[in-house]
Amino acid sequence: MSTETTETFEFQVEARQLLHLMIHSIYSNKDVFLRELISNASDALDKIRLAALRDSSLDADISDLHIDIEADKSARTLTVRDNGIGMSRDEVVALIGTIANSGTAQFLKELKEAEDASAAEGLIGQFGVGFYASFMVADEVTLVTRRAGESQGTRWTSTGEGTYTVDTVDDAPQGTAVTLHLKPEDTEDRLYDYAEPWKIREIVKRYSDFITWPVRMAPEPRTDAGADGSGGEGAEGAENTDAAPPAPETLNSMKALWARSRDEVTDEEYHELYKHISHDWQDPLETIRLQAEGTFEYQALLFLPSHAPHDLFNQGYKRGVQLYVKRVFIMEDCDALMPSYLRFVKGVVDAQDLSLNVSREMLQQDRQIQLMNRRLAKKVLATVKDLRTKAPERYATFWREFGAVVKEGLIGDYENRDALLEVSSFATTHDEEAPTTLRQYVERMPEGQEHIFYLTGESRQALENSPHMETFRAKGIEVLLLTDPVDEVWVDSVPAYDGKQLRSVAKGEVDLGTEEEKQEAEKERKQHQEQFAGLLTWMSEHLKENVKEVRLSSRLTVSPACLVSDTHDVTPALESMYRAMGQSLPHTKRILELNPSHALVGGLNQAHGERPGDDVLAETAELLYDMALLAEGGTPNDPARFVKLMADRIERTL
Ligand code: ADP
Repeated sequence: MSTETTETFEFQVEARQLLHLMIHSIYSNKDVFLRELISNASDALDKIRLAALRDSSLDADISDLHIDIEADKSARTLTVRDNGIGMSRDEVVALIGTIANSGTAQFLKELKEAEDASAAEGLIGQFGVGFYASFMVADEVTLVTRRAGESQGTRWTSTGEGTYTVDTVDDAPQGTAVTLHLKPEDTEDRLYDYAEPWKIREIVKRYSDFITWPVRMAPEPRTDAGADGSGGEGAEGAENTDAAPPAPETLNSMKALWARSRDEVTDEEYHELYKHISHDWQDPLETIRLQAEGTFEYQALLFLPSHAPHDLFNQGYKRGVQLYVKRVFIMEDCDALMPSYLRFVKGVVDAQDLSLNVSREMLQQDRQIQLMNRRLAKKVLATVKDLRTKAPERYATFWREFGAVVKEGLIGDYENRDALLEVSSFATTHDEEAPTTLRQYVERMPEGQEHIFYLTGESRQALENSPHMETFRAKGIEVLLLTDPVDEVWVDSVPAYDGKQLRSVAKGEVDLGTEEEKQEAEKERKQHQEQFAGLLTWMSEHLKENVKEVRLSSRLTVSPACLVSDTHDVTPALESMYRAMGQSLPHTKRILELNPSHALVGGLNQAHGERPGDDVLAETAELLYDMALLAEGGTPNDPARFVKLMADRIERTL
C-alpha cells in the first residue's frame, strides 16, 4: 500500500455547510442514512451490469453482483459494500467532495432562513442529502473504492469537518465499501445501535426491500465464546470453529414492485421506491400504476412528487422516468417516455420487448416508445383530473407546484389540449384565494358574455390595478389573472374552450353587455368620436413614433389613458421573452386609448380646439402616453424628460 500519494482536500463551501448540518443533525429520522448508502450501491450495480453489457472488453466481474452489510458491534463500525462500478480517484474528489446539484445554493439559503428546527428538517427532507447522511450517525467515514477496469483503488476518509483525505490503495476489490465509525450511543434518542443486526434488518426491510440486488448481511463476527452472553444471531455452528462460515442472509425480497399486483404492495413500499428513484425524502403526492398488455407489453409505476424540485425550470433539468427492460435497469431520466411538460413525473417503466442495448437516440425514433409516451401522458392527466374531483386539496398542492410546467403542454400538445384545459386552474378576480377551472368560469358567465376574459402580467396586484381592468371591474365581469411567464405564450395557441374564445382584456376593442347596452354604448361612442376627431388625428400623428393609433377607449372608467394591443399582435411581454431567447422580432407598436370621460382628456380636447399646435399640448400628449406606460408597469422612453415635465406642471399648481 502506498501512502506517499495521500492528499488532503477541503470540502467545497456548500458541501461543508451541508456536512455541518448533518453532524449536528437536526433530522430526526436518522435511519435513512442506510437507505441512502444502499441506494447508491444499487445504482453502482445497475451501472456495472449495463457497462459490461455494452462493452464486452471491460475488465469487470459481474458474476455475483450484490450488496454486503457488515456490522461490528465491538469496533462500532458498519460497512456497506458493493461490487459495482466503483469510482476513480478523480471521481471520488468530484462526486464526494462537492455537491453538483444546482439547487443546493438555494436550498442552503432557505435553510438559513428557516425559522426553527422543524422547518429546517422539512427542508432537508425535500432536498435529500445522499451519502452525507452518513455523518448523522458516524463521526468518521471511510470509503474505499476501485473503478471497474482500473487497477488502483482509492481511499477517502473524513470526519466531515472541513477536510478529507484521499490516498491510493493497491489491493482494493472492484466496487465501493463505505465504513462508518458510529457515534457513541445516544441513549436519550434511541435505545439501539446501528450495529445491531435486528435494527439493520428492520431498516433494510422498511426502506430497501424492493432493491433488485441482494442485500446480504454477514453473521456477526464471533467474539470470545460467552464473553457477553448476548447476541443469539450468528451463534449457529459456534461449536465447530473449523466449519465453513455460516452463509450471509439476504435481507430484502428484491421483488420489483411494478410487477406485483396492487394488493401485494403497501403504500409505504411504493413510497420507498419513489424515494430511491427520485432522491426525494418526502412521500409522493400520488402513485400511478399502469399495465399494458398485448403486442407491446410494459408496466409503469409513476409518481407525482409532492413538491417541485428547485431546478425544474433549469435548462439541463433531468426529466423522465427510469427505463427497465425485463427487470434490467437500462437508463435513468429516459426523456423519450414523458412529454417535457410532465418532466417532474418520476417512476419506472419496464418494457418487455426492447433490446437491452437500446440507446437514447433509438428511443426517440421508436414508434412503440412514442405510443407509450402518449399513453403515459394521458394516464397522468387522467390521474390529475381524478385528484381534482376526489381530492381537491391534493390537486391544489399539485397545481401550485407544477401548474406552470403543465401549462407548457397547452402550447404544443394538441392531442391532449382538452385534457390539459380540464386539469388546469387559474387565479381569478372572482375569488382571491381559490383558483378557478375554465369549466367553473364558463358556468358563472352571465348572459350576454361571449368570451373568457384574461389578463397576463407580472403579479396579481399589478393586474388587479391595471387600467385595462377598469370597465370589467365596474361591470363585475370575471377576469382570469395569468402571471406565469408561460401564460403569455399558451393563450395565443388556445383559441377557445367549450366554444368560448379566450380574450385578453388588453387587446382589441371591448364590447360588453346586452344588445341594448351595446347599442347605447355605440351611440355614445359616435358622439364622442365626433367631438374628439380632431384631437385623435393630431395625436396619432404627433405620437406616431410610439403608437400605431390613438383612439377612444371603452374600457377605462378612472384612468385617462391606456395602451392596448391589436387582437392578433404580439404583446410586449412576449416580445421581450423572445428577445431574451435570442430571437429578433420587429417591435410591434400598440394603440393608445383615451378615456373621453376623463377631465384631463376633455381639457386637452378643448385646448386643442382653441389653440392647436401649442407646445404645452404636445407635451401633454407625450405625458399621457408615458402615464399609460407607467400604469401597466412599464417605463417611459425618456424617464428624465418625463420627470422634468411632471415637475414643471406640479410646480405650477402650487
Ligand atoms: P446522489 O446519490 O444523490 O447523487 P450522493 O452524495 O449520495 O448523491 O452521491 C454522489 C455521487 O457519488 C453519486 O451520484 C455517485 O456517482 C457516486 N457514488 C456514491 N456512492 C457510490 C457507490 N457506492 N458506488 C459508485 N459511485 C457512488
